[in-house]
Amino acid sequence: MNVAVIGGGAVGVTAALELAARDVGVTVYERHAIGDGSASSGRAAGLCYDAYAGRIDANVGERALSRFKEWSGEGGFEFTPCPYVWLARSGDKKRAAAVREQAARMQEHGRAVSLVSADDLADRYPALRVEDIAVAAIAENAGYTEPAEYTRSIADRAATAGATIRTETPATLRSRGTVIETATGRESFDAVLVAAGAHTKRVLVEIDVPIPLKPYRVQALTTDPTEIDAPMLFDGTGGYYLRPHEDGLFVGDGTEPIERDPDDWSHSADDWFVEAVDTYTRTAIGRTLATDDAWAGLCTATPDGDPLLGEIVPGVFVAAGWQGHGFMRAPALGATVAEQLLDGAGIDAFDPNRFEGSESFEIVEGMAIE
Ligand SMILES: Cc1cc2nc3c(=O)[nH]c(=O)nc-3n(C[C@H](O)[C@H](O)[C@H](O)COP(=O)(O)OP(=O)(O)OC[C@H]3O[C@@H](n4cnc5c(N)ncnc54)[C@H](O)[C@@H]3O)c2cc1C
Repeated sequence: MNVAVIGGGAVGVTAALELAARDVGVTVYERHAIGDGSASSGRAAGLCYDAYAGRIDANVGERALSRFKEWSGEGGFEFTPCPYVWLARSGDKKRAAAVREQAARMQEHGRAVSLVSADDLADRYPALRVEDIAVAAIAENAGYTEPAEYTRSIADRAATAGATIRTETPATLRSRGTVIETATGRESFDAVLVAAGAHTKRVLVEIDVPIPLKPYRVQALTTDPTEIDAPMLFDGTGGYYLRPHEDGLFVGDGTEPIERDPDDWSHSADDWFVEAVDTYTRTAIGRTLATDDAWAGLCTATPDGDPLLGEIVPGVFVAAGWQGHGFMRAPALGATVAEQLLDGAGIDAFDPNRFEGSESFEIVEGMAIE
């Protein structure tokens, strides 16, 4: 069997590794370099956890985490275990109730999740401001890594396992669906996986396969070094997240719910975002931190917030629509779609044919406590 993968982001290279490790012929077409800043996988925060209230997502998160841990340290990337805390602050009754309810459901799915009092959180992380925390939960099976390093590392492993990685090679799907056209000619495959991130819809339009996928912009920054021992944290009331980053913090903000052209969007962070991060860090740790770097990136939304994963027309598979959670699920969902390519079972809830492709829908924030 000979498979083409369009897109060398975290998902595409993981699927390529899984296929190559099973002796399938794989060619990855990546229009830029692997793990560079043009891909979402080169711009992401790298928060990873299995703290999902839904059973399917919790299982996917667990499978992904076990892969991150297994592969960590083997050439190029490190997974750093770090608890994930999410919380609601005083007066935010709706999110406080939601944190309690989510934690209970995660426990039902066997996750290592518990509610944690403000005092206990302060004992564990003295740098955190806890006085106005209404409810907090902590997930112990969590951690972070640098997404670009993961992506390059897995691409290298895939190449070692026999995959061909063609960088600086934009690929176009041609009418039969499993024919790939590049600047140097056409090649025919038994199957194609389109894992082109924010460009996935554009790639599939070439063969008249519509999918309901909207790219949207999110923003992040890193701070100068500081001596703060912080967990990974999502403040549902404030609408921001943070994690440790090279002796400083990595801080990210939610969604701009506007559909973006994947070839025409601002890669720079907005001034309002950089200013808002000062409010975020003063809320979280009571301090203002200097900005080291700030940027924007794209995520992708679907009508129901679940991915599009599996065979969409004969021989053509899709893996996209992560709603801001694509990196942390890449090791699991890259494997799942590789298994589907080899006639394995997929995940029914992620069936890419559950939509017409022409639906109108609103972009909903992926990281939220509702
Ligand atoms: C600021 C920010 C923070 C984030 N934080 C997190 C986080 O903490 N945890 C998490 O799970 N997720 C996070 N995400 C989301 C995460 O980045 C994505 O869900 C994930 O990286 C998607 O991986 P992918 O492989 O599907 O797509 P991508 O990484 O976008 O890769 C797609 C690749 O396809 C290539 N491509 C496109 N068209 C073609 C073509 N025609 N031919 C050849 N190649 C093509 C692109 O160049 C690109 O390299 C964050 C995103 C951003 C922007």
